[in-house]
Amino acid sequence: MITLESPTYYSATRKYNLSFPTLENDIEADVVVIGGGFSGINTALELAEQGVTNIVVLEARYLGYGGTGRNGGQIMAGIGHDLEKIRSSVGDQGVRKIFEISELGAGIIKARIARYAIDADFCQGYSYLGFNSRQAHTLRQWETQFKATNARDEIRFLAGSEVRQIIGSNAYSSALLHMGGGHVHSLNLLLGEAQALVGHGARIFEHSPALEVTYGERIKVRTGRGSVRASKLLWACDSFLNKLEPELHARTINTYAFQLMTEPLTDELIERISPIRGAYSDIRPVIDYYRVTRENRLLFGAATPFVEHIPRDLKAWNRALMLKIFPYLKDVRIDLAWGGPMATSANLFPQLGTLSGRPNAFYVQGYSGFGVTPSHIICKILAEGMLEGSRRYDLVSSVKHARIFGKDHLRPLLLTAGKTVHQLSGYFNGRR
Ligand SMILES: Cc1cc2nc3c(=O)[nH]c(=O)nc-3n(C[C@H](O)[C@H](O)[C@H](O)COP(=O)(O)OP(=O)(O)OC[C@H]3O[C@@H](n4cnc5c(N)ncnc54)[C@H](O)[C@@H]3O)c2cc1C
Repeated sequence: MITLESPTYYSATRKYNLSFPTLENDIEADVVVIGGGFSGINTALELAEQGVTNIVVLEARYLGYGGTGRNGGQIMAGIGHDLEKIRSSVGDQGVRKIFEISELGAGIIKARIARYAIDADFCQGYSYLGFNSRQAHTLRQWETQFKATNARDEIRFLAGSEVRQIIGSNAYSSALLHMGGGHVHSLNLLLGEAQALVGHGARIFEHSPALEVTYGERIKVRTGRGSVRASKLLWACDSFLNKLEPELHARTINTYAFQLMTEPLTDELIERISPIRGAYSDIRPVIDYYRVTRENRLLFGAATPFVEHIPRDLKAWNRALMLKIFPYLKDVRIDLAWGGPMATSANLFPQLGTLSGRPNAFYVQGYSGFGVTPSHIICKILAEGMLEGSRRYDLVSSVKHARIFGKDHLRPLLLTAGKTVHQLSGYFNGRR
């Protein structure tokens, strides 16, 4: 069974000994942020870098308690899973612009790591993988599209036996190497960013859940033992919002993903699995994704492909998937397995903007399981919106997001139906 308190690879290898007090009194700020994951911390850091430093971040548990401290650490190109799904909102030109923007993410992460000397095991090297000729065709198309917006990084399609140059598995017949992508220790990245934020003068409070929000010119957020009054608010709770803001609650549904971590492997085995020491995912509608870590472990992740449920034995469930790709790991010990919820949008595209009729109450959520790189792009754009505004904020916030009816009572059923449609559509869009 999954418990959100189980240790993860990230909690077991965190390098920053950072902790923050509980809010105990009534304070004033320019901006109050609810949620201490990539979204909350990154938007606050972007604002602080622009000179807005009287910022308060409230975190219900501790920084990285949410998806940010549980994910695969994959740095891939893009925002959203399929930009076709937003074409009706933003038009052809909008899709083109968002595709261009979506290549910025890895660069933002690299620049931040360099600027603040963040110790987050950043590693360059990513590959998308295909099992069949339909997927190979899609990867060839992606190669052309990626190269059109990225002339810096090596991007190369491989097929047949060449694939083994970058991945030690016979499961795949094609691959698209993207050396602009890679992987990162997401918890240490978050904590390094939080340390940088505090360095700019912002205040962070942990174990301080927002319990009530009163909107107005000065917004008041009440916690158990204190309150913050600020001119602007950001909701950044993603899958942990827990109905606190009904307008946001209505627009996502939580689905689960799971991860395992092997014991440390020999250098020879790591070299065999991943000659590029990189990160990987296939391109099916519901992917396997994995990477090697600095300690020579393999982190392997997946979600249930059709029927939404939480596997009873996470280690065994994930191990069976791993062995389909790497049968030669059958004697390797699995040290940890964990998982967590991911707030998913109907169109699988992240949501940002302001609440209806409340121009000073901003939100960001709904990365749909693809948030490590996208949160860095989206939060830069969101911060622009919270400051002077920008054309790309107007564009990204104009994407329409449907309410998800029945999500509270029919969650597994809706997700099973959604996954089935998503999987079947893969035959038509070259993903299956
Ligand atoms: C198992 C798993 C694997 C994943 N793998 C990948 C991957 O490899 N690549 C990728 O790109 N993405 C991946 N993701 C998704 C990615 O991790 C998320 O999209 C991203 O971290 C979301 O960041 P966030 O800050 O919006 O939300 P979170 O990190 O979830 O942070 C939200 C925070 O809000 C806090 N909060 C909630 N309510 C309140 C309140 N009332 N008051 C104060 N604080 C509150 C929570 O405690 C939490 O810390 C994965 C997610 C999971 C769960």
